[in-house]
Amino acid sequence: MTNPLFSLPEPISIPVSGEDSVYPVGRIFCVGLNYAAHAAEMGKAVDREAPFYFTKSPGNAILTGQTAPYPPGTEDYHHEMELAFAIGRPVFRADPEQAMDAILGYCCALDMTRRDLQAAARSKQRPWDLAKDVENGAVFAPLTRAGDWSPADGKRIHLSVNGEIRQDATLAELIWKIDEIVVNLSSYYHLRPGDVILTGTPAGVGPVVAGDRISGEIEGLDPVTLTIDPAE
Ligand code: MN
Repeated sequence: MTNPLFSLPEPISIPVSGEDSVYPVGRIFCVGLNYAAHAAEMGKAVDREAPFYFTKSPGNAILTGQTAPYPPGTEDYHHEMELAFAIGRPVFRADPEQAMDAILGYCCALDMTRRDLQAAARSKQRPWDLAKDVENGAVFAPLTRAGDWSPADGKRIHLSVNGEIRQDATLAELIWKIDEIVVNLSSYYHLRPGDVILTGTPAGVGPVVAGDRISGEIEGLDPVTLTIDPAE
């Protein structure tokens, strides 16, 4: 018998909308540049060669409705509104049908980003961890079961800061569709329950400041909100 020297914080669990169940978060994968208009505002061309990814630590994720401090080390902290989905069964080297069958549900999420550090890392061809894996920098709203909601039909995705619309697009603009992301990502990882994937942000990303209230919505899903602590 071995005794842990200390205990780690409990990883977050995302509530399932309308149920008593929760979804424990194990790993967080994020797709980069998955809307053409956002790629353009980042000064990047889109390609259909392959999606690319970065990750966030589950210990840095929080649930919707919270107030979080403005993070250290940045002067350009950005909101990114995204559709996320959660894997519900093991899937490896999926075909498109297996891909959709593996999805338990969908939710609204925020991929908060130290944009100044991302730009610096990019220009030096360094990793994005400091820019993307920010404490309190992944925010999740409750999940809606895949049987009750579909990403099809060009549903609206939008985000406002203090009531003013900043991002406004539809899911029809996704370059890599949900099944394509699962097919591709499952060629690198044995995807499993606990894996949550953020699918990229539409155009209109921008800075937030202390005291801002961020609210993001996708048609038919529970909204995600985050307040930046006014005391910072
Ligand atoms: Mn993003």
